[in-house]
Amino acid sequence: MSKYDQYKSKSIVFPHKHCPKCSKMVPEEEGEFGEYCSAECAGFFKTQKKNKKKKTFLFIGLYGVAIIIFVVLAILGQN
Ligand SMILES: [Zn+2]
Repeated sequence: MSKYDQYKSKSIVFPHKHCPKCSKMVPEEEGEFGEYCSAECAGFFKTQKKNKKKKTFLFIGLYGVAIIIFVVLAILGQN
């Protein structure tokens, strides 16, 4: 490898972004895995997002039940 080649390979910076899961460099334009570097990363992230949504719904549900119990107790306490 010549000195010029070494210099070239070190300074190559093309437009890119990083995989949201593993931070690997992925090309700027979206490939078959979108913003992810591989199907594994894309699939993993999707499942995680789903689980998070489920947890949020569960939290809202529990919060709602707690409020209802609080209101019922308040009404009962007035009598
Ligand atoms: Zn990745």
